[in-house]
Amino acid sequence: MAQEIKLRLKARSDEEYRKGLPLVYKDRIENLADLKEEGAIFRLADSRNKFIGKGYYGLQNKGCGWILTRDEQEVIDQGFFEKKLQKALKHRESFFNSSDTTAFRVFNGEGDGIGGLTIDYFAGYYLLTWYSEGIYRFKEEILQSLRNLADFKGIYEKKRFDAKGSYMEDDDFVEGERGEFPLIVKENGENFAIYLNDGAMTGVFLDQRDVRKTIRDVYAKGRTVLNTFSYTGAFSIFAAKGGAVKTTSVDLANRSKSKTIEQFSINGIDYEAKDIIVEDVFNYFKYAVRKKLLFDMVILDPPSFARSKKHTFSASKDYKNLLKEAIAITEKDGIIVASTNCSTFGMSKFKGFIEAAFKESGGKYKLLEEFSLPKDFRTISEFKEGNYLKVAFIRKLS
Ligand code: SAH
Repeated sequence: MAQEIKLRLKARSDEEYRKGLPLVYKDRIENLADLKEEGAIFRLADSRNKFIGKGYYGLQNKGCGWILTRDEQEVIDQGFFEKKLQKALKHRESFFNSSDTTAFRVFNGEGDGIGGLTIDYFAGYYLLTWYSEGIYRFKEEILQSLRNLADFKGIYEKKRFDAKGSYMEDDDFVEGERGEFPLIVKENGENFAIYLNDGAMTGVFLDQRDVRKTIRDVYAKGRTVLNTFSYTGAFSIFAAKGGAVKTTSVDLANRSKSKTIEQFSINGIDYEAKDIIVEDVFNYFKYAVRKKLLFDMVILDPPSFARSKKHTFSASKDYKNLLKEAIAITEKDGIIVASTNCSTFGMSKFKGFIEAAFKESGGKYKLLEEFSLPKDFRTISEFKEGNYLKVAFIRKLS
């Protein structure tokens, strides 16, 4: 085992790390220059040299590493990773036992004790997502843990960091059997077509499972539904299954159309009876106003940040205006499902956007229900940004 690198906090950071912050930020460290090679194990002490924790150096879009243990004696070796994974698998037992849902998150980064790594399960296949070169250095230990603990058909991986050298974008296969794609998985009885070997995204965002179920079981019946930023149309599928009279899916990406057709088809829904539109949502809002279109349900699930030809959208700045556009084309008594995965603000600020949007639109509303991440996306209270999902079901009263 390589030697541990001693890191020291700046005095103003002692408190937050003593309280349990797991992510190490560059600007909190006194002797950053001592960190040289990603994957190195560090021993972090506060400004008075009192032990805080041990972790690994890894450069992510935020932070430069994660604390893995606060026990000074604990060794970070293969057994360490196996213990974390074993605990994580145990937490998902009810998911493994379900025949209704065969896709879920098995390991959620710092929520399961190892920041920078997520593992998802798709009907017999595991997908590992590495968020830094640093955690990727532990690939063999983590794979060995998975081999020891789980039965699988195959393992795939995604690298969410700049991999230098020989990384082939088009092959994320790791070991076991290669999958045949699309792989059909189930979520609460409905089907999803999943691709583990086709770029960064798989075809479904698993964190919206409870929201999709609620749309299907509680709100969709008899409603006309507009699904904006629709990607592969996952919300539209659940709306249609719940008895929506019509769904309209709008996404800017060309590939969203064939992907949405595929999702409808594998669920036995006639996609020709559905509107699937490739367009900038902001243009579509203008079109809908011009044509006096109104919907009984409008779903908003934009990316935190997006740039199209004419618009730049940033959730923290522009969500209120997005809501105003939605309010303008929602029927009285209609439902707006407002969702964001932006980690830079919390639920109370999000509710502030909703309040301001209705106020500026001169309308009234009622907040019906709220969602955050589902159970399999475990989070810890010491790292609020990890609990990024915020969803509000809102009734437009006037
Ligand atoms: N709501 C989806 C996930 C959305 S992912 C689901 O639950 O499955 C974000 C999507 O927004 C991407 O598919 C992207 O193509 C689309 N997008 C980004 N900017 C857009 C814009 N201005 N107009 C329409 N779609 C946009």
